[in-house]
This record gives sequence, structure tokens and C-alpha cells, in this order.
Amino acid sequence: MIQLYIPLNFLGVIYREIKQSLTDLDKMFGLLEREREVADAPGAPALQLAGATVRFEAVRFGYEAARPILQELSFEIPAGKKVAVVGPSGAGKSTLARLLYRFYDVDGGRISIDGQDIRTVSQASLRRAIGIVPQDTVLFNDTVAYNIAYGRPGATREEIEAAARAAHIHDFIAASPKGYETLVGERGLKLSGGEKQRVAIARTLLKDPPLLIFDEATSALDSRNERAIQAELEAVGRNKTVLVIAHRLSTVVDAHEILVMEAGRVVERGRHAELLARQGRYAQMWQLQQSGEGG
Ligand code: ADP
Ligand code: MG
Repeated sequence: MIQLYIPLNFLGVIYREIKQSLTDLDKMFGLLEREREVADAPGAPALQLAGATVRFEAVRFGYEAARPILQELSFEIPAGKKVAVVGPSGAGKSTLARLLYRFYDVDGGRISIDGQDIRTVSQASLRRAIGIVPQDTVLFNDTVAYNIAYGRPGATREEIEAAARAAHIHDFIAASPKGYETLVGERGLKLSGGEKQRVAIARTLLKDPPLLIFDEATSALDSRNERAIQAELEAVGRNKTVLVIAHRLSTVVDAHEILVMEAGRVVERGRHAELLARQGRYAQMWQLQQSGEGG
């Protein structure tokens, strides 16, 4: 009796744990019904990386069939370069990030990394290659250390701390009674939007993947902290392929290409100086920010 009881009880614990992690993942990815359709092709091979050149080719996508969000969108991020996407809220910028991470499959066209359609490779290998700092970070109901090390299991405490320092969150963590063992989330330490974002940045620094996506990665921080972390992000992004979705244009000045999006379409594209000279939408946004923020 007792021998049967213990394993069953243990299984119950495991089951609860698994269920909880699935819930966390659902929250983290903001999963809807549609995303459950994204699956590995049988025997899908791992992504073979060769510098991580990203290509969107005539991509079409809508969350609902009746309402297309992206229409015939094409661009390339050459290996080791940075492409920036700017534009008003609702333009479809975050959708690009979600498609590249394959939370959803495209309705038309294709997205490839180093020539491989991302639908043909295993999701695990795709996601290993990409570090994403999303707009709204959802943390796991686990320790701070776990949350930072997620994405690089087996990281040492020193490595975790180094990443936390670079993301300017170490002092905050060290000041809580249990330090890196402090639980975060509903039953533990509640973090502000900016603190969560820093944890996500630390996680990405530690994961150190060849392809980075920053989705308004520092938007929840005040401008002094934003500048400090921006410098760190610049440093990790060097020689990596970067897709940066930016609300602050000072971070896109050096981009290989800037895409200005409106309602799912690219309305202007080019380098910073070219776009300024054009005196169109980008130049307008730039002037607004210069006067509004004093640089
Ligand atoms: P941006 O990041 O440029 O503000 P998004 O890519 O998040 O814009 O969204 C583009 C459009 O898609 C918006 O109109 C938004 O309402 C819609 N949208 C975003 N996520 C979903 C979703 N999960 N289901 C349905 N519509 C969505
Ligand atoms: Mg967005």
C-alpha cells in the first residue's frame, strides 16, 4: 500500500510541476489557440547556423484570416548586422518578432535563417539560436537564479551574477533576503516592469545566442537606466544578427537598415541619414523625439 502511495503522490507533484511550467510558458508566450498548431515537421533537423542571416521573403500574416496584419513584407538582416523597425503602435512590429521566433507560422512567403525555412527545422534548435527580450516579460514562478539561467541550464552562479550585473539588476537581487534564491512571481517577490525587463536582459546576456531580438527592450526603464542598459545591449549585439524594435530612435542611428512600418507595410526604408534626407515619416518622428526629449 505504502509503496504504491508514495510514487503516486510523487507523480502528483511532478504533474503539478509540469502543469505549472506549461501555464508559465503559455503566459510567457501569450499563447492563443492558433499557436498550438505550430509543430515540428516529423524528423525536423536542427538549424545549421552559419552567421545567422535572416530573410523575410514576401511574408503575409494575420492573426485572424479576415484581418491581414503583414502584407508582402521582405527584408534581410545580413549576418552580424542590425536591422531596426520603427513605427506607431499597432504597425505590426512585435508580430515580426513573434514570427521569427515561430510563435506563429506565416500565411504566405517564408522566413529563413541561413537559407533554412524556419518551418523545416526543429523549434528547439530555432529557439536556442535566438535571444528575445520581449516588450512584456513574464517570469517563471521560481527563483531569480532560475529565471536568469533559463535558456542556459547549467550556468554557474558566477555567470548568472555577471549577467545580472551587466543588466543592472544584481544590487537589487543581492538586497533581497534570499538573494538569488528569492522566489519571484505571485507567491514571491513582485518585480516592477523595469526589473522584469532587466531579468530578461540578464537571461539573454547569459544565453549569448547568435541572433537577438529586442522588442522595445528598455521601454519600461527610466531614461538614465535606459541609457546604461542600452550600452550593454549594444555591446552584446556587436557582431551578432540583431532585430531591434525601437521606440527611441537614438538606438537605431547605426542600423544597417531601418524599416518604418505602418499598418503592416514598410512605408520607408533606408539608413538613418538617407531617411532624414527624405524628410518623410522617419524624419518627422526624429524631429518629434529630438524636441520632446532633448536628445
Ligand atoms: P506593434 O508591435 O507594432 O505595436 P503588433 O505587432 O503587436 O504591433 O500588432 C499588430 C496588429 O496585430 C495590431 O492591430 C494588434 O491589435 C494585432 N494583434 C497583435 N497580437 C494579436 C493577437 N494575439 N491576436 C489578434 N490580433 C493581434
Ligand atoms: Mg509591439
